Amino acid sequence: MCTEKIFWENPYLRELWVHITCVHGDTITVDRTIFYAASGGQDSDSGSIGGHRVVNAIKEDRQIFYTIEGPHSFKKDDYVFMEIDWKRRYRLMRLHFAAEIVLELVYQHFNRPLKIGANIHSDKARIDFVWDGNISQVFPIITRESMQMIEADLPIRSEFSDKDRELRYWEIDGFAKIPCGGTHIRTTGEIGDILLKRNNIGKQKERIEIYLSE
Ligand SMILES: [Zn+2]
Repeated sequence: MCTEKIFWENPYLRELWVHITCVHGDTITVDRTIFYAASGGQDSDSGSIGGHRVVNAIKEDRQIFYTIEGPHSFKKDDYVFMEIDWKRRYRLMRLHFAAEIVLELVYQHFNRPLKIGANIHSDKARIDFVWDGNISQVFPIITRESMQMIEADLPIRSEFSDKDRELRYWEIDGFAKIPCGGTHIRTTGEIGDILLKRNNIGKQKERIEIYLSE
């Protein structure tokens, strides 16, 4: 079984009518979806299916399982309305891509330091590195080059590298081509101004936090 992931072909869709394909207690599957399930560090969406709030979304292989707030009377083949919290998702997409750019610039300028963690929430993104010293020393160049890319409003291409295995990538011509199954904005300008903060999270472990400044 496979859930058709409309959030890839159109990451800007906020609502969609879908068919329920399976019901198991409060957990359901649907034939197609705009509701992202956490993977690759990007949080799951918030939203509802058939008027019931989704409390958990899990991607397993190519299927997505949604657990909804009960009680419900859903059955297989019901045609229901799905909607996501767009404000939150759009912040996730903008922070996600800000993190993509920051990470790639750190890799390109500082000899690919070891990344030991990353996460994208709707209020901030973070990337953790094994790093000697204070990582905020890189902020002037990383901030300047990130902002140059954002102001240039560069097109971002998101495609499958292997459709059967659902492997995807994003690419900016002349900058990078990176495997990622998240939802991506169409141009860098959508990010807007960003702000970087440093956090020391242990011996030789440094964190870059990324905020949208608005
Ligand atoms: Zn990505």
